[in-house]
Amino acid sequence: MEKTKDGTGLTEHTGSTDFISEFIKEDLTSGRFSWVHTRFPPEPNGWLHIGHCKAFFVDFSMAERFGGTCNLRFDDTNPEKEDISYVEAIKRDVKWMGYDWEDREYYASDYYDYLYDLAVKIIKKGHAYVDDLSEDAMSEYRGTAVADKHNITETPPGKNSPWRDRSVEENLDLFARMRAGEFADGAKTLRAKIDMTDPNLLLRDPVMYRIRRETHYRTGNTWCIYPMYDFQHPLSDAKEGITHSLCSMEYEIHRPLYEWFIREAEVFPSRQIEFARLNMTRTVLSKRWLLKLVQEQHVSGWDDPRMPTIAGLRRRGYTPEAIRDFISQVGIAKTDSMVDIAFLEYCLRQDLNRRSPRVMVALRPLKLIIENWEADRVEALEAVNNPEDPAAGTRTLYFSRDLWIERDDFAEVPPPKYFRLFPGNSVRLRYGYIVTCTGFDKDPVTGEIIAVRGTYDRETKGGNAQDNRTVKSTIHWVSAAQGVPIEVRVYDYLFSAERPVPAGGAFLDNLNHHSLEVIPTAYAEPCLAQALPGDRFQFERLGYFVRDPDSAVEGKARTKPVFNKTLGLRDTWAKIAQKSAQEGKK
Ligand code: ATP
Ligand code: MG
Repeated sequence: MEKTKDGTGLTEHTGSTDFISEFIKEDLTSGRFSWVHTRFPPEPNGWLHIGHCKAFFVDFSMAERFGGTCNLRFDDTNPEKEDISYVEAIKRDVKWMGYDWEDREYYASDYYDYLYDLAVKIIKKGHAYVDDLSEDAMSEYRGTAVADKHNITETPPGKNSPWRDRSVEENLDLFARMRAGEFADGAKTLRAKIDMTDPNLLLRDPVMYRIRRETHYRTGNTWCIYPMYDFQHPLSDAKEGITHSLCSMEYEIHRPLYEWFIREAEVFPSRQIEFARLNMTRTVLSKRWLLKLVQEQHVSGWDDPRMPTIAGLRRRGYTPEAIRDFISQVGIAKTDSMVDIAFLEYCLRQDLNRRSPRVMVALRPLKLIIENWEADRVEALEAVNNPEDPAAGTRTLYFSRDLWIERDDFAEVPPPKYFRLFPGNSVRLRYGYIVTCTGFDKDPVTGEIIAVRGTYDRETKGGNAQDNRTVKSTIHWVSAAQGVPIEVRVYDYLFSAERPVPAGGAFLDNLNHHSLEVIPTAYAEPCLAQALPGDRFQFERLGYFVRDPDSAVEGKARTKPVFNKTLGLRDTWAKIAQKSAQEGKK
């Protein structure tokens, strides 16, 4: 595939920037590790989005490249927000993307005893203590970065907690009693004794355990103390023998802490390596914000076809191949960048063009009556299923007197350069005949055009005209007697702004309130009645569409299949890339 994005400034660069492989190679050469073992560590507090695809693409592909393995580990130490339904969604989506963790499915919540024992070990070394400061007092003692009058950010040193010098015995006793449930939620914490003056605030005696009486979806009420992420994560990596703990850039400032816990606990020395997050225009990639969209019903659910979740993309008609192609072309870099969503669409269009059967659908139907066609005559025509794939074969279409055409393909008064149907003009009906428009019918009350009339030329079948007649347009059609009604949902971007998240995060202000249009009745070739949820098609001249799991109820019993518009046929990426390349040269 062409590397149009290079030089556009819109995406990260590929190829030589694969610094992770370089680090891993160094580690294997130096003997720091003799094998490669990675993990993908989602927290089950939401569904996965395309940013997570980048993360597990990196995790699984690095393992694969070096003949190693990759674990799926649920980082589930935050009982308030986690749920088994998220675990199931995550597993289904990673699998659908084509990745297999085999039997290596782990849960940080299975390590609670192990983690507790390591906390005790660190207390015994005199490097952790039980603190009585409240959350507010603790952050006051920790201090925060302040901007001085010259706007330079400074971090004045923090203050030690009055409880910092408790004896090892007292700490061991209090920690055991925290676990036993003797203290109220928030009354005490276990903290690492590092350095209250460190410029990195995360190293100012971070909390290792907090008291929380909350039912965990796996451990129930067994525990009332829960380990914090920064303590749990490195030690879970170590427990699984993870050699390379790959994560997004925001964890870079956590790395000293990651290493501190590994050193203090004296466990397997996993190495953390960070890479840039995936950011994309016209969308938000944060579980917190996606959850808000779901909870406040701005979308129909996590799998709404407008969502950047894997489930949303699947329902929209995306293929795992296209998403993987996109991620691999975006590449892995250290610097954050914003990828244009048009590039994702370009990758999908390439894939769908190869694989989608072509069909004809009148999306906004208008009746065309062929006046010189006998009323009951039906003629079979042969249509090609996919010009990109001869193996896809052909199908039979039925031509008849009454057809559905696209409302847009007729104009009472043609605008300039309009070559479709208007009184006196001729077009070819795809696979069929040349038809000349002879008139149209209007609703006497509303004035709306309700039918177009025309005559066909029997010598022009299938483009084999003997008289060399040429027409400037070919339009699609569906036989009215054979066509099946379908519902079509047409989507636009969920956000009207290129970068929906302004400073302060008020991203809902940028919601596009016209991102869904429902077309209750379109007419499709009969074969679409048999389409299964997930089947993808190109509706000729209209775009790519996918059968949704929903069915629209029509009347009492009959149901109409629903199709989602995946995307249009026109590629906007080439234009964007070209424009940016030109701007880059200026
Ligand atoms: P939240 O959005 O709630 O902060 P999260 O997206 O970081 O959460 P996790 O479940 O912790 O969710 O993420 C699992 C892994 O996916 C982490 O290693 C994280 O670095 C990575 N990840 C998350 N978002 C992205 C992104 N946009 N691009 C690349 N990697 C990401
Ligand atoms: Mg996270």
